[in-house]
Amino acid sequence: MSENVCALYKKCGGCQMMNLPYDEQLKWKEKQVRILLDKYGRVSPIIGMDNPYHYRNKVQAAFKALRDGRVISGVYQSGTHRVVPVDACLLEDETADAIIVTIRSMLRSFKIQAYDEDSGRGILRHVLVKRGFTSGEVMVVLISAKPAFPSVNNFVKALREKHPEITTVILNVNPYETNLVLGPHERVLYGKGFIEDTLCGKVFRISAKSFYQINPVQTEILYGKAMEFAALTGQETVIDAYCGIGTIGLVASDKAARVIGVELNRDAVHDAIANCKRNAVKNARFYCGDAGDFMTAMAENGEKADVLFMDPPRAGSSPAFLQSTLTLTPKKIVYISCNPETQARDLAVLTKGGYKVRAVQPVDMFPHTHHVETVVLMTKTGRNG
Ligand code: SAH
Repeated sequence: MSENVCALYKKCGGCQMMNLPYDEQLKWKEKQVRILLDKYGRVSPIIGMDNPYHYRNKVQAAFKALRDGRVISGVYQSGTHRVVPVDACLLEDETADAIIVTIRSMLRSFKIQAYDEDSGRGILRHVLVKRGFTSGEVMVVLISAKPAFPSVNNFVKALREKHPEITTVILNVNPYETNLVLGPHERVLYGKGFIEDTLCGKVFRISAKSFYQINPVQTEILYGKAMEFAALTGQETVIDAYCGIGTIGLVASDKAARVIGVELNRDAVHDAIANCKRNAVKNARFYCGDAGDFMTAMAENGEKADVLFMDPPRAGSSPAFLQSTLTLTPKKIVYISCNPETQARDLAVLTKGGYKVRAVQPVDMFPHTHHVETVVLMTKTGRNG
């Protein structure tokens, strides 16, 4: 058994591996990567965390009213809409957890009801908290089923008195029957509507909806490896595909001639452009669109790129993306992945197209869960097939 097992380990389902000591978790993850990727290149030992607890800087809680009127908050049991009450989690940021408990304790006196999915009664569906690891800035997002939230300004004022560390509060309205936590509309109730955090020496703006790596300590290590693999000299044209809020591209921008980022999520692109200005980066451009379409257009226009960073979601890349990559023929590809299975599938296409895997580095971004992140360096071999 691990030295620090959570009482909710089985019920919640968030930590699939908490029954194993941390070093055994790491061995298991490294083995999974070897099984999938060893055939392409040598897999380096996984980089774990020194302190693998409370690393999650983004915490989300579902709220539910019980029959007796009490309100619980916590996580949905894996694959269900049953709320498992969670007040403190070994993975989550402790400030974020404390804020969620405070919000729950305030609901009754403010006559705010938790939303009930079956009857459609009530209002508060979820609370999302994001905390900047280095900045300490805290964003609270109240996700409401209806646009009218009773005495919301007084509620926010009282919450801020209890938690002065909160720097911004947002009301997000999600009236839909959906698995998505956030709805399309939001209103800033307090502060600037986003938080900032420093990563690899650059400042990033994080809004309610945009993706930001949830483990900042390991992200610096992951991006550090990605930069080491790219070994930029200042002359290169760099593509940051699936760029989110522009993190990888902006970190690379100091050592590249120019950076082109592409991302599907409009809010994230908006943040990437703001991040570019915020860091006075002059050689990066960010575009909103499907990475596959974008790469295809680049290939058709006869454009060239020297280094491609790609960091797709769990589903991996699309065939169009991979084919246009082969047409663009960057000298190096640095492929960051949170799913070694789809990465292995994509590596099969790229190695067949003339790339060779030079390094495979697993990094443990999600201790106690079965997720594993890898960064792979590929270079062009000069032959196809
Ligand atoms: N590189 C960023 C984000 C990686 S997460 C970081 O490290 O922070 C993957 C990103 O891919 C998400 O921001 C998601 O919105 C985006 N994405 C998903 N499908 C996409 C597609 N087809 N084209 C472009 N971006 C996509």
